Amino acid sequence: MEKLFCLKCKKEFDVNTPIWRCTCGSILDIEVESKFVIRRIKQREKNLWRYLEALPVYSRSKVLSFGEGFTPLIDIPSGRYGEYRILFKLEFLSPTGSFKDRGATVLLSKANELGIKKVLCDSSGNAAAAVAAYASLGGIDCDIYVPEYTEAGKLVQISMYGANVIKVPGSRQDTSDAAFKAAQEIYFASHFWNPFFFQGTKTFSFEIWEQLNYHAPDNIIIPTGHGTLLLGAFKGFEELRKTQMIEKLPRIIAVQSESCAPIYEIFHNNLKDIPDIKVQDNLAEGISISRPIRWMQIIDAIKSTSGTVLKVSDEEIKESLREWSSKGLYFEPTSASATAALAKCIKENIIQPEEFTIVPLTGFGLKATDKIGHMYHYI
Ligand SMILES: *Cc1c(COP(=O)(O)O)cnc(C)c1O
Ligand SMILES: [Zn+2]
Repeated sequence: MEKLFCLKCKKEFDVNTPIWRCTCGSILDIEVESKFVIRRIKQREKNLWRYLEALPVYSRSKVLSFGEGFTPLIDIPSGRYGEYRILFKLEFLSPTGSFKDRGATVLLSKANELGIKKVLCDSSGNAAAAVAAYASLGGIDCDIYVPEYTEAGKLVQISMYGANVIKVPGSRQDTSDAAFKAAQEIYFASHFWNPFFFQGTKTFSFEIWEQLNYHAPDNIIIPTGHGTLLLGAFKGFEELRKTQMIEKLPRIIAVQSESCAPIYEIFHNNLKDIPDIKVQDNLAEGISISRPIRWMQIIDAIKSTSGTVLKVSDEEIKESLREWSSKGLYFEPTSASATAALAKCIKENIIQPEEFTIVPLTGFGLKATDKIGHMYHYI
């Protein structure tokens, strides 16, 4: 059976232990040997639970699902970029409006299976919305810690799902500290600490593999903050490669904001530790993470796929969001970091026309209509 293991001290725990980090304080991961029988998967419903042999949740009756996953993989509209083979994966068509549902369905299903009655999480964004929605589906009590200054509008979706919003005075760090303290007693449904979240995001890769007729693409361009999609995507393709379902891993091209690019700095300057970064306000707030705790894993994943890291400016994001919205695709400014990076990849020959390149559109534009309205002076 699968085991939880510590990335630092290598200690192992039974996969059904209700912990979210190692006793040494470090981060945990889970290694799973996916055994797919393609014929069997194909008979199942088109949602991410069709890969159940690869997901470390064992009782079907405990699964908390809204039928998430199997998001469309579409040719980019109106033949933009001519001969290039580029596909968008519409992750924003997930039940709560972002790819975070992949992680949340697996994490909350696991919590449900373990008999956990209450979880907590600190985020005011898409991760919290996803955790809150799946917790309410399971009748699991859910505390969401947010900084006191968080705009009320940002909390509506979370509050409507019935989560308890706990406002913490002070900085973002004070909120994290308060949540961390509370997590000594309550199961931490953190999208970056909790290893089960990544078991969910890995289904992103299984779907692409199926949608490409059981092939891996050549490149994936992924907006990266804490790396939950990036590490999930890597895990998914790694598992497929280990079981000989694909031959080689796609190249991972991580994207960061110019205003907050720790992974970019570490990767390109060969740093041995995370640099001190003061985050400035920018359009890609969803990836503006100055200290991603899994940075070593992220760097290793990018390197082992011969990938790279790019950064994009607010100007590039703004231009790209305008362009794709005018072709009928409305996504978050954070997600537009990936389409802006795509433009850069083509301009700088980082990807080639004959290669298959996948770009996830991570979050729905309606989540950020207020912000987008201000960006383009509609409001
Ligand atoms: C969370 C999120 C990201 C970045 O994911 P990380 O796990 O922080 O790397 C990108 N886009 C959207 C819309 C998100 O919600
Ligand atoms: Zn440890």
